[in-house]
Amino acid sequence: MEYISTRGKDGPLSFETALLNGLARDGGLYLPTSWPSFSASEIRAMHGKPYVEIAGQIMSRFTDGELHEEQITEMAADAYCSFTCKDIAPLKAMQQDIHLLELFYGPTIAFKDYAMQFLSRAFDAALSRQNRQAVILGATSGDTGSAALEAFRGREAVDVFILFPEGRVSPVQQKQMTSVRDAGVHAIAVKGDFDDCQALVKACFNDATFRDKVGLSAVNSINWARLMPQIVYYFTSALALGAPDKPMAFSVPTGNFGNVFAGWVAMQMGLPVERFIVSSNRNDILTRFFEGGVMERRDVHPSLSPSMDIQVSSNFERLLFELLGRDGKAVAEAMQNFAERGLFSVEDKVLQSALQVFSGYCLDDLGTSAEIKRCFDMHNYLIDPHSAVGLAAARNARAANLVDKSTPIISLACAHPAKFPDAVHQASAQMPTLPDGLADLMSREEQMFTVPNDMAAVQKLVLEHRRS
Ligand SMILES: *Cc1c(COP(=O)(O)O)cnc(C)c1O
Repeated sequence: MEYISTRGKDGPLSFETALLNGLARDGGLYLPTSWPSFSASEIRAMHGKPYVEIAGQIMSRFTDGELHEEQITEMAADAYCSFTCKDIAPLKAMQQDIHLLELFYGPTIAFKDYAMQFLSRAFDAALSRQNRQAVILGATSGDTGSAALEAFRGREAVDVFILFPEGRVSPVQQKQMTSVRDAGVHAIAVKGDFDDCQALVKACFNDATFRDKVGLSAVNSINWARLMPQIVYYFTSALALGAPDKPMAFSVPTGNFGNVFAGWVAMQMGLPVERFIVSSNRNDILTRFFEGGVMERRDVHPSLSPSMDIQVSSNFERLLFELLGRDGKAVAEAMQNFAERGLFSVEDKVLQSALQVFSGYCLDDLGTSAEIKRCFDMHNYLIDPHSAVGLAAARNARAANLVDKSTPIISLACAHPAKFPDAVHQASAQMPTLPDGLADLMSREEQMFTVPNDMAAVQKLVLEHRRS
C-alpha cells in the first residue's frame, strides 16, 4: 500500500515513511492511494474472533508489503495486553437501541490509548529497522500527552518530550503525565497556555538544524498510523450488534475529527454505516459546517469537555480531500484560505454529498451536565462529559428519526468519568472513582521539568536529556 498527501505534492511513499514523517512535506496529511475493502462474507467471518486478530486483519491491509498480518496481530496483542477489559472495547446497552462503546480500558483511561499504544510499537519497530533514534516532541492540553508518555515508556529508539501548560491541565491529567518516570519520557510544564506550547513545538519543527540534529518526529492525531487502530473498534462494535447484515449509526464526540474519520474509513472498507453523528460542545465549527458548507474559525471557548475545545479540526482535511474527488490542488487552496482568512466554503453539491452520511450536533455545558445527571439517574451509570455530548446527540438522532428505527446507534464513550471528576461530580453529585490500577495515582511521585515560554529553553532541555 502506498500513501499520498491531501495536498497532492508528496508521495506516493511507503507506510513506514508516512508513519515516521507524520505530516506530509507539502503541509498535507497522508492517506492510502486507495481504500482496501472486505466483502460482506469476509466481515461475517470476523464474528467471534479476538479483538487483536481482527486488528491484524484490518490494519495489515494498510501495511501490505511491509508488515504482514501476523506481525500486526502480535503488535496489537502487545499494545493491548495491559488493557483492563478482556474484550478491549466492550458495549453497554442504553435505552432505545443506543449502545455506549466503552473506550477507556487503557492505561490513561481515554480512547487515545487504543491508537497510541499501537503507534509507539510501530515507531519503535520502524526506527530499529532503520537503525536510528528519534525525538518526539508534542504539545498537549491533557489526554494526548498522557497517552503518549504511557505508550512510549520503555521504548528504546524514541525519546519523548511533552509540553503542557503549567497549571492548566486537570490534576488527574497532570499526574498521569508526571508520574511516568521511565528513561526517555519527559513531561515539561511551560509557563504559558496551550497555544504557547503548540507554538513552541511548531517553532522547533521549523528550525531545520535542530530538527535534523535530533531526528524530530510527531505523534499528534494527523499521523495516519494513529487513525488506523481506531478503525478496528468500529468493526468489532458493529459486528457485536449484527453487522454486516444490518447497518449501524455512530455518534462520535469530536475535536480534531480523527476518531470519526476512522469510522468513515471503516465504512469505505465495507462496514455498512447508515450515519455518523458528529457531536461537538459549544465549540461548534463542525456543526456550522454541516449546516451551511462554510468552515469558519471562531474563538475557542473552554468547556466541560476540554478535549473537544478546538476550532481547527485538522483531520477534516482528509474528508475534504475525498469530498473534492481527491483533488489535492483544490484542498491546498481551501486550506490556504483557511490559514489566511480563517474560512473556506464548499459548493452545495459537495455539502449535500457529505450530508448523505454525516450530521452535526452540538451541546453546551448545561446540556452536558444534564445528560450526565440523566444517565446516572436512569442507568445508575456515570459518564464523562465528552461521552455525554455523544450520548445526547445519539438520543436526539433517535428522537428526530434521523436514523432508521431498526438501526442501532453506537455512541462512543471516549473517557472514563474519573478522568474528569469535577464536572461529573458537579452534574451528578457522585464522585467517580479511578479504576483499580490507578487508585493510587494521586499519591504517586511526580517528576517534571518547568521551562519559560522560550524555544531556546525547550531545545536546550531536549539536547541535554535525549539518550542518543
Ligand atoms: C481527543 C478526545 C476527543 C476528540 O477526538 P478527535 O479524534 O480529536 O475528534 C474526544 N474526547 C476525548 C475524551 C478525547 O480525549
